[in-house]
Parts: sequence; structure tokens; C-alpha cells
Amino acid sequence: MHELQFLLVAQGLAPRLNHPERLAGALSAATEMEVYPASLTGCDCVIYFLARSRYDRHLGLAYEAAAVPAAVGAFEGTAESRKVEGIEVAAKLCPLTHGNAVELRRRLPFLVPQCLGLAPSFGLGDRLGLATPGHVRAVRGSGLRPVFAQQSIREMTRTGRSPQRVLDDAVWGVFAEGFRDGFGADADHLKSAEDVDACVDAGFTMFTIDPSAQVDAAADAAAPGALAEKFRNLPWDGLETSPTDCRAFYLANPPDVVGVKIAFSESTLMRAASKYGAAIAQTVRLYRHLATRKGAQPFELEVSVDETATATSLAEHYYVACELRRLGVRWVGLAPRFIGEFEKGVDYKGEPAAFDHSFAQHAAVARALGPYKLSLHSGSDKFAVYGSIARHAGDLLHIKTAGTSYVEALHAIATVDSELFKEILDFARAHYDKDRASYSVSANLAKIPASAELKKTQLVQLFESRDARQVLHVTYGSVLGAKNEDGSYRFRDRLLALLREHEDLYARFLERHLGRHIAPFRRH
Ligand code: ZN
Repeated sequence: MHELQFLLVAQGLAPRLNHPERLAGALSAATEMEVYPASLTGCDCVIYFLARSRYDRHLGLAYEAAAVPAAVGAFEGTAESRKVEGIEVAAKLCPLTHGNAVELRRRLPFLVPQCLGLAPSFGLGDRLGLATPGHVRAVRGSGLRPVFAQQSIREMTRTGRSPQRVLDDAVWGVFAEGFRDGFGADADHLKSAEDVDACVDAGFTMFTIDPSAQVDAAADAAAPGALAEKFRNLPWDGLETSPTDCRAFYLANPPDVVGVKIAFSESTLMRAASKYGAAIAQTVRLYRHLATRKGAQPFELEVSVDETATATSLAEHYYVACELRRLGVRWVGLAPRFIGEFEKGVDYKGEPAAFDHSFAQHAAVARALGPYKLSLHSGSDKFAVYGSIARHAGDLLHIKTAGTSYVEALHAIATVDSELFKEILDFARAHYDKDRASYSVSANLAKIPASAELKKTQLVQLFESRDARQVLHVTYGSVLGAKNEDGSYRFRDRLLALLREHEDLYARFLERHLGRHIAPFRRH
């Protein structure tokens, strides 16, 4: 305990401790819990740490009992002290509540989500709230800025988690791993002012506005007459211009993007405006609402239309960016609907050469009209196109993954509790047809045997099957929400308890799986 004593009496502790393993050992013995060495952080005469018993995790504060530092009183928890080598050492163990997370963030700035600006970045959504340690390990040292809290409103609804909870879970994971390099928090696929408010209140820094409900996909195939009518009926007030001015601007100023030819005739404009005009008005409305709510606090914006039926043409991308700029929107990322299919949990479907050509042109537009990052949603497992993206986007890229970390959780479960996984698999098979409705997927249920037909090793091999991955990917809401007759959760609590018990295994699965995703984009 010599070192503990030394540190406790020292004034102005170093932010990162030199021998965390030894101190963690001493604190583990003192608290009868297992202290995460990487979490140890000294600040104003308190050593903060994360510790776990078999299932429960606690925030710990260690300090000299005779001179209780001011910060200690702000945390809700129970303190005990014992004499160690002549001084009274106190350890306060605090539950991982929101209040304690807020207090910890107030004192340790590396736990506060940041804006990442135009740095190349990677989004790592976590539907279970336990994936951040594995995400940290996957992204550490890659040169990419991570977004550890990233959840769409749809995911939060399906998993029964609040924006605050999503952020707090990421913060505890960052703290456990001692990740000091900063991270972003992305409130994904926001569709209403209420969505925006909930995520502003929770402290998110990145806001992804999704106006896809206002995108008129029918414009793609509409005849000239129908198109003219759509154009006339756009929400011109919201767009703060008129049909005449809009036409005059685009037809008098043909697109000028180095190295890219964008044909912009009257009919191109009609189609682009008819398809995306209402979506732009909606984006501007939500953006201004967001800017007002945030006031002087920094935030960053992404605009996403990735979940729409038809691809965003180059002319349409150009039109969207010009309009957002004209209306004073400032954004760091745009997610067009790229060509080909970006189905959940499986590789790119389409012609990689065509994607390469198209992506290069989109990247040129993003450089010329921003610069802003191109954002790839449903970015997991798209190995066939990562090379193109890395090559053409340069630093201007953001990749989002989410469900793949949930699938890896099931992968880990399949190795430690095949009976539970069998139950989940059969349940997922039964719910796939309903759950697939809001996702772009094509899995064939007939290719996935019922669990009774599978041996233990075959269960684990299922994670190499595209069909099985998709079925497991999109049924998370049903699986996590399923209840027994007595109202208890059917899978959720067992699943979370197992992942907590085997947290290192889960972290290793994530490090390996997401490490493969990050490798093509590494900066050093
Ligand atoms: Zn998306």
C-alpha cells in the first residue's frame, strides 16, 4: 500500500498514473472488488476508478480520510475508511447512476463528448451499452476519431434506452478503458424537433438530421408534367426562395466542380428539387431549432438521406449542398444514398467498380462545396468498397456501424451459453419477417437451420453466414424487448448478465471484428 499512501498524500496528482496495475491491486484489496487499472485517474487529491464485483460495477473514489477533498461530497455512494500504514484511507463506492456520471464528467474532461470536426471518424453504435470497451480497443491508435455514443431514435425506441442512458453507458466504457483522446456522441437519424430536444438535453455533440420522410422518391421516374407540378408545390416559404429565383440561379450558374462533369438542365433541376426540396426545408427547420437549443454550446451536424429508396445522383447531391449552404446550414457530414445496396450486416451488393467511380465524384462535390465529410451508414461488413472510400474521401470520411456490435455480442453468447443462444436464434427466426420491414435486408430464412438441428460448433459457425447475421441483426428490438408471462424479460437480463460476466471476451470479439473494419482507414 506504500504507493497508494504516497499518491493520496501527494498534491496535484498526475492525470495518468505511472503504475496503474500496482495501485489497482492495492485498491482491489482495500475494496474487495476488481479495479480496472486503466480507469485510475488522479484529480485534485482524489483517485477515481472503476471497479467490479461479479455482476455489479461501481465508481470508486479513494482519498485521505483525514482531509476529505471537496469533490467527494458531490458523489452519491458509501464511504469506508481503514488505516493503511499510518494514514486513514477512505474509499467511496458509488453506483453508476446518471448523477454520478454527470459529476465525473464535470471533473474529468476526457469523458465529455466533443465535436470532431472534419477529422476522419468512425461511429461505433452500441445497442446494449456494454460495447464501448471493445470499441476503444478497436479504434485506439488508428488515427481515426471515434464516436462511441451513437444511436438512432429508432434503436433507442426498440431497445428501451434513453439518449441519456446511451451517453452514460459510453462514458463508463471510456472511463473503464482510460481512453483520453476524446470521442463524439452522435444523435442519429433525428426526424423531429422532439428527437432533437431529447438528445440536446442528454449532452450529445453530433446531430444527424434525417429528412428521408420528406424525400420524394417518385420524382425519379415522374413524367415532365408531374415533375413541374411537384416543383410548383414545393414548400417555397421554407426554402426562402421562389420557383423563378431557384430556376434562375441554377440555370445561370452551371455546377463548377474540378474534375467532375455535372449535367444540370432544366429537367435535372426539376427532378432534384422535387425529390429533395421538402427534405431541405425540413433539415433547415430542424437545424435552426437545434442551433437555438444549443445556443453558445458547440455542436456539429450531419445530414443523412441514406435510408431512401433511390440513389442520390451527383446533380442531386450538388443541389442539396448548394441549397443547405444558401440557407445558412453548417454541416460536417452528408450521407447521400450511394449506388448499390447497403444491406445491414453483409457486404456491399452491387458493382464495386461503378461504386468507385460514383463515390469519387461525390467526394469531389463534398470537397468543392464544403469541405464536408461523406458519411457511410450501414457501414459494417462493406469490405468490398472500403478501399474506394478510403482512397477517394481522404480525410473527409465518416463510417457508421451499430448492429454489428450487437451481432458480435450474440457471437460471444453462442460460445459461452449455447442454450441461451439457441433460444434467441429460434426467436429471431420467428420474428424476422415482421422486423425486417424497416430495414434493407434480403436474408433467406430457409438457409438458417432451427437451433435443434445445430451442434455447438455449428452455432458459432452461423456467424459466418450472411443470412444468419442479417436475421440476428434486425431482430434485436424483439429479442431485447421480449417478456415472459410474469413481465420479466425473456432474454435481455440473461444476455446482459452474461456479457458483463464475460466482458473481456466480448471486448476481444469486438476488437477483432471492428478492427477489420477500421484497418482500411487507419491513419498510422
Ligand atoms: Zn443511417
